[in-house]
Amino acid sequence: MNFDPTDEQRRWRDLARDFGQGEIRPRAEQLDREQKFPYDIIAEMARLGLMGLTLPEEYGGSGGDFVAYSLALEEISRADTSVGVTMEAHISLGCAPLAAYGTTEQKDRFLRRCATGERLWAFGLTEEEAGTDAGGTRTTAQLEGGKWVINGSKKWITNSGTDITAGVTVIARSGTREDGKPELTALIVPQETPGYTRGSGYEKLGWRASDQRPLYFEDCSVPVENLLGERGAGLSQFLRTLDGGRVAVAALSVGLAQACFDEALSRAQERRQFGKAIGEFQAIQFKLADMAMEIELARNLVLKAAWLKDEGRNFSREASMAKVFASEAAKRAADQAVQIHGGEGFMEGSAVARYWRQVKINEIGEGTSEINRQIIARSLLAESAEEEKAKVVVQ
Ligand SMILES: Cc1cc2nc3c(=O)[nH]c(=O)nc-3n(C[C@H](O)[C@H](O)[C@H](O)COP(=O)(O)OP(=O)(O)OC[C@H]3O[C@@H](n4cnc5c(N)ncnc54)[C@H](O)[C@@H]3O)c2cc1C
Repeated sequence: MNFDPTDEQRRWRDLARDFGQGEIRPRAEQLDREQKFPYDIIAEMARLGLMGLTLPEEYGGSGGDFVAYSLALEEISRADTSVGVTMEAHISLGCAPLAAYGTTEQKDRFLRRCATGERLWAFGLTEEEAGTDAGGTRTTAQLEGGKWVINGSKKWITNSGTDITAGVTVIARSGTREDGKPELTALIVPQETPGYTRGSGYEKLGWRASDQRPLYFEDCSVPVENLLGERGAGLSQFLRTLDGGRVAVAALSVGLAQACFDEALSRAQERRQFGKAIGEFQAIQFKLADMAMEIELARNLVLKAAWLKDEGRNFSREASMAKVFASEAAKRAADQAVQIHGGEGFMEGSAVARYWRQVKINEIGEGTSEINRQIIARSLLAESAEEEKAKVVVQ
């Protein structure tokens, strides 16, 4: 077993670390306060190849592996999670399904502009009545005169309404299956399609410089060629997409936890009470030790899930484990970082107060902790049933 990153993985991590600490972190407080999408930062990340890190080189992407992406995303999120989620949602949610299920023609038309990061692509699954229950999609798509006509709405869709967004892939109900369940199909909707509009951005607790909007479809028609993958395969495609997204959100959580630790460590060394640095008190030392341990564990889970994905092996359970543990470890880290800062940590403008606000979404987006625990438990139970079956066969 080798825990050393390859030279290529190290190069991506270091590039992201240098850019994150040099260019993003000094602006993170202002980005959060002004809630403005950082076009210049995203353009520079595109130029560096970070916005297309795992996307195929033949379409303009950087062709990096998932381990490299996880390491780089951790560093970008350590500097600012608004920028981190913009990168994550573009690569893992927006572009990954186009790369995985798109035809050559679709990749030429839609992925090519986005794999460089010059333009962004979004992923539209969630609706008013379909959150955790993704299968509860109400948006419809009907085949009429050689076109798919879409009606309905989506909610909280990341990167859907920036000036550089090129489109969204949406999931819609295209009929009823033989078993009576809805048939769900994924459709590619370019930004300027008539009948497709977007509402204003939301006021949020965190990720405030990232873009999320409601989407509206009123007799919005796209050509049949905009069907992504097979008709009726939409939900399984989207669920597989979310497996990758979970590893990425876990990497984002590790980055935020690391940022909490960075702030806590320097505060522990600088702040003096009772004539000594507070880092000399065992109570504070134990907090730092616990934070560092949990960050190390979370990072190892993320990198193992990413490695399994790179190896083409099943990584669904590990993705959920990484997502739950890293998001919850980040929440504990943010809480302890504020505690180590005392009253200063409660002040607007303090980095740890911002982290404390931002951290909660990691336990919600791309599958809540509850649903991820269910995925883990179901896979354990299924595996144990398989083992029991195997024992019976052997006997
Ligand atoms: C900032 C932000 C960005 C987002 N970006 C995107 C995006 O780009 N694309 C997209 O499609 N979506 C996006 N989402 C939506 C996100 O994925 C959903 O919020 C998430 O899946 C949870 O759905 P919900 O919020 O409707 O919660 P609900 O489904 O209403 O869940 C509420 C609570 O009930 C629990 N619960 C629900 N069902 C069960 C169950 N069966 N067993 C146990 N507990 C259960 C949940 O775990 C949760 O605690 C975004 C959301 C936010 C806030």
